[in-house]
Amino acid sequence: MPLPEAFDYAEPEGMGLELGDQVAAPLGPRLLRGVVVGLREAAGGNRPLKPLEALLEEPRLPPGTVEFVQWAARYSVDWPGQPLAIALRGARAPKPRPIRVVESTGALPARPTAARARVLEAAAGGPLTPAELVRAARVGSGVVKALIEEGVLAVRLVEQAARFSPPDPGRPGAALNASQAAAAESLKAMLAEGGFGVALLDGVTGSGKTEVYLEAAAAALAADPAAQVLILLPEIALTQALIARVAERFGAEPGEWHSGVAPPARRRVWEAVAGGDCQIVVGARSALFLPFARLKLIVVDEEHDASFKQEEGFIYHARDLAVARGKIEDAAVVLASATPSLESLRNAEQGRYRWLRLSARHGAAQLPDIALVDLRETAPEPGRWLSPPLVTAMAETFARGEQTLLFLNRRGYAPLVLCKACGERMTAPDTDSWLVEHRYSGRLVCHLTGFSMPKPKACPHCGAHDSLVSIGPGVERVEEEAKTLFPQARVAVFSSDTVFDAREARRMIEAMADGQIDILVATQAAAKGHNFPNLTLVGVVDADLGLRGGDLRAAERTYQLLAQATGRAGRKARPGRALLQTWAPEHAVMQALAGQDRDAFVAAELAEREFAGLPPFGRLAAAIVSGLDPPQLEAFCRVMAQAAPNAAGVEVYGPADAPLGLVRGRRRKRFLVRADRAVDLSAYMATWRARVKPPASVRIAIDIDPYSFL
Ligand SMILES: [Zn+2]
Repeated sequence: MPLPEAFDYAEPEGMGLELGDQVAAPLGPRLLRGVVVGLREAAGGNRPLKPLEALLEEPRLPPGTVEFVQWAARYSVDWPGQPLAIALRGARAPKPRPIRVVESTGALPARPTAARARVLEAAAGGPLTPAELVRAARVGSGVVKALIEEGVLAVRLVEQAARFSPPDPGRPGAALNASQAAAAESLKAMLAEGGFGVALLDGVTGSGKTEVYLEAAAAALAADPAAQVLILLPEIALTQALIARVAERFGAEPGEWHSGVAPPARRRVWEAVAGGDCQIVVGARSALFLPFARLKLIVVDEEHDASFKQEEGFIYHARDLAVARGKIEDAAVVLASATPSLESLRNAEQGRYRWLRLSARHGAAQLPDIALVDLRETAPEPGRWLSPPLVTAMAETFARGEQTLLFLNRRGYAPLVLCKACGERMTAPDTDSWLVEHRYSGRLVCHLTGFSMPKPKACPHCGAHDSLVSIGPGVERVEEEAKTLFPQARVAVFSSDTVFDAREARRMIEAMADGQIDILVATQAAAKGHNFPNLTLVGVVDADLGLRGGDLRAAERTYQLLAQATGRAGRKARPGRALLQTWAPEHAVMQALAGQDRDAFVAAELAEREFAGLPPFGRLAAAIVSGLDPPQLEAFCRVMAQAAPNAAGVEVYGPADAPLGLVRGRRRKRFLVRADRAVDLSAYMATWRARVKPPASVRIAIDIDPYSFL
């Protein structure tokens, strides 16, 4: 519920409440699920408290989880109910359906046979499903069926246990090179010290960071057999590969947690985590809110990735909250990346984080040669997107039987459709964003809100027929071009439109790893984390794309994305190369990439941020105010500007029209607040918001450390 703080209730006699218990609480005419966040003796106050209705027979949230939820709400300047709802997501999912098991009744078969004896022997080991029993006894299903009919075996329905097999840290790990071994030792030392600590595992792509942090997980599990480990990943597409590696390393499946996991399976993971029976979780950002009872290690893999920022509903950054949760739980935190965020690099430079650098690529792999293709000199033909140097390199690669990855961080066929008769740009009806053309579905799609419509035959503005033209490339259009250029090649597209769930992602990644694809056209979904041994050429179709955004992290994000994408080439023994098509080869980002000089890029970018007092040298927060009625919104924003508290080291800018001025029919205005590092910006924003009473149709969303400035 959107309530600023917890409500008080009376504990009925004999309920025996403890912190973190789930209860049924009356609120007005309704009965709601609640969580006990504090207990105290009350000496008969002015008015009697309402008693709680019932203690729910549900797992209790551990104290660390209760504290973390409250901390997250305060930090994000949001209602505590928001993060609590995320923490209870698994508890509210339906339970898995009971399964049928058969077990021996003690009766003996009237007519004993060898097959029947094998069945009884297998059944004596404990309850099995009929299928398991058939397999274990190596008999036909008719044998088991007959024994059930005879009353020798009985069928029983049992709740699916929430248990996971315990991981075995004693199994041998991967062979580590010297650089990996040194980093692993350092992490083990941090875990042995115990308590809270953060390490930045900073290694070029292909340097084997996963093996290193799995050794840290092994050390945590060896030191405490009940320890729990959380590994956060930015993309669902990456989870399957890591789950397989964790299962191989520890001989037990980890819990999987993300939006693609079916609700009953999520419930099973949630209960097992709360009960301490699931010791390793691999998941997306919301896994951070699971009710860990004994969390000893949190790994944030690809820590720089902007996908860790949740932009809707409860707004938070999973990396920042992971560090906070580590502190609350007294756990170690490992942030891993080939291109760490400037925030983490700054913390490492300042000695707040341990800085573990992996320099060498694992095994024989070498870093790819990176070359810039100056599009001003060698532009593609009109209506094409691949320049002659890139096409030549693709032809050479294909002739050698090796693979090419064409990287373009743009879904669909064309990012813009306009009418060549009247110039009308196709936009969504209630949102200021261009509709993206998708050829596979034949639709025009708003990537922001999900609105879509069939591509019209005539211009909706002037009525001209066949006048709508597609402007610019998306992955589908580059795929079309690659197929035209290389008709014998097997070409595929990897984007969130073609790869919609974890299973499909795994299928596509396996097809690429097995060499069933010659040219893969991909968005960022495939640019990170995967190993393709036969991939030797990466072509970046539009290296300038991310630089046009103009926000705080545009250069940083572009550098990270391109470094990850080019790092895909030559990960095994064959050398790789990367070609970046750019209109601005002199830009610092392009120069740093071509020179493979990350430190120079980071130093230049940090100097600029320091000069402007921007993160990581200062703090930022945004307030996005939206409403249905423009004059009312304007009036409220003026009131809000007046109400901004005066505080030393804080500057308030705005209100300004948001670049995305209209989303789902709501007009949007933005305030931006800059503060010195020492300022408690969350407290400042909370004070500000408490001073204003927005009209019913106006909403204020507060974004601490914004990543999107739209
Ligand atoms: Zn028109």
